[in-house]
Amino acid sequence: MPTVTELPTPDPRVRMFRSDPEVDCFAVVTRRHVVVVDTFGTPGEAAQMLALLGDDLAGRSLLVVNTHSHFDHAWGNALFAPGGPHPAPILGSRLAGEVLRSPEAQAKLARKQEGDARFAGVVLHPPTVTFGGALTVDGGDLTLELRPAPGHSADQLAVWIPELRFLLAADALEFPFPYVEKDADLPVLLATMRDLRALDPAVVLPCHGGQHDASLVEHNLAYFARLAAHPDTTFEEALADLGLADVPNADFYRDLHGLNVRATRAALR
Ligand SMILES: [Zn+2]
Repeated sequence: MPTVTELPTPDPRVRMFRSDPEVDCFAVVTRRHVVVVDTFGTPGEAAQMLALLGDDLAGRSLLVVNTHSHFDHAWGNALFAPGGPHPAPILGSRLAGEVLRSPEAQAKLARKQEGDARFAGVVLHPPTVTFGGALTVDGGDLTLELRPAPGHSADQLAVWIPELRFLLAADALEFPFPYVEKDADLPVLLATMRDLRALDPAVVLPCHGGQHDASLVEHNLAYFARLAAHPDTTFEEALADLGLADVPNADFYRDLHGLNVRATRAALR
């Protein structure tokens, strides 16, 4: 099982946990609640995060948020599900609930379990508190605004903490760039990115690609603007344009660049 480690953030109340190189999950420690944001790809990794939270759990109720239904964000839900080792309300969009209950999600799990013993203990659990639109969690000192952020996936939420101007962007922003699975999703993702820019965040914490300031939004928008102007832009050219020589998981992002190019060409037609 991958090891989960903690990384410091500019505010100790926002705790960041990494299963390297797959995903970063978070826990926001408010006066009333500890709000876990995403549950990793397996309950075992989620349990490591919970162990690292330690004393912060004392005297606070535990709430869990799924930013979206993708495996690396919600397949650790069993740890918090009713009857699980640490039952807690799991908040997510209505759509994320529908996806996690679908036969397609079960089929995806079966495929992953065939190829990788890591997923043997995964049981899919949808969020137990679902909503359409936005939801606000009042932690007593910090507020968490769960805001629709579709595009990367239709079911996605981003978490905005206005008191800190921290944006937990899920996969709506990424370093070096986010991606869409379907061509038709590109205008939706771009609209979400502009929405997030309008928040004027001080700190941007995506689930892939480390800690950033508001420049991540600008860089992500500039990437898609370059694609729209020059759809033949190669992955290497796109990185060079961003002032980057190389990035972690380069092969993975080269494939995603291909998806973005395809979506851009479709949008231009
Ligand atoms: Zn995702």
